Amino acid sequence: MRNNIVCDAHCDTVLALNRGDRKIEELSSQGHLDIPRLKKGMVDVQVFAVYIEQQYKPKRSLHRALQLIDCLLTELEKNYDSIEPAYVFGDIERITSQNKIAVILAIEGGEAIEGKLYNLRIFHRLGVRLITLTWNQRNDIADGSSHPNSKRGLTTFGRKVVKEMNRLGMLIDVSHLSESGFWDVIKTTSQPIIASHSNSYTLCPHRRNLKDEQVKAIAENGGMIGVTYVPDFLTAEKRKAAIDDVINHIDYLVKLAGIDFVGLGSDFDGCEELPVGLEGADKVYKIGEKLAQKGYTESDIDKIMGKNFLRLFQQVINP
Ligand SMILES: [Zn+2]
Repeated sequence: MRNNIVCDAHCDTVLALNRGDRKIEELSSQGHLDIPRLKKGMVDVQVFAVYIEQQYKPKRSLHRALQLIDCLLTELEKNYDSIEPAYVFGDIERITSQNKIAVILAIEGGEAIEGKLYNLRIFHRLGVRLITLTWNQRNDIADGSSHPNSKRGLTTFGRKVVKEMNRLGMLIDVSHLSESGFWDVIKTTSQPIIASHSNSYTLCPHRRNLKDEQVKAIAENGGMIGVTYVPDFLTAEKRKAAIDDVINHIDYLVKLAGIDFVGLGSDFDGCEELPVGLEGADKVYKIGEKLAQKGYTESDIDKIMGKNFLRLFQQVINP
């Protein structure tokens, strides 16, 4: 496999595909991501998250997740000449070596499991390889980041979910999780975890971002942080965010955690605005260029742009 595979650990494009306002294979002026833009941005591996909208929670979360997974897989099937789902590390090797984009299925919000481990196992069988345990609100696994002072941690069911995901070989995503939930996951998991789209709280004190101790804990755990481009999580100042703010977060996290634990987690199509210079998936390669200008070596840039994510995927996902 090439050394410079580019991986993005989070996007919300499935909802746009489901609304029918975009076709994945057509270059669009809408939103942030489609196959032509991924190609132009040199993205090789894209995690597509299924986000369950409020009106489906909690009772119809499973139903909605299934509907959205079907939507994504159906769109991919029509375009297997350029994009394909990857279920194991070997799939990523094969798909990217054919110059195609590898897609990893994810669910954003453990509501989709609806409190049953058999649903988790069914999702795994359907090809889901990453689950963000909570969105911002409380669910039966833990509290989300809209409960910043929550002491609830992982529930009994939440602990079972973490252990079952460890057993199945699925990536546990702590983005959106409350701090108490985060520390319980660190204590409970036997595998490295991911924060698929979160930034540094020190640089931007937002409850969706990670405090320094959390960043260090992810590094000690062998996991990874996907730096996100959402302006609200980049700068607290009242100004327009730019690509350099993304670089600042990457640089800060690398200095704090080490070069092996930082990657990309755009949140394309999960927010309205994007930073100047990084307005869509077609601009992702510019992050590599900016890091080179900052003096990062080629091998360090490769790690940030994709290799760290690949290492984590290879380690956690059962072959
Ligand atoms: Zn999110």
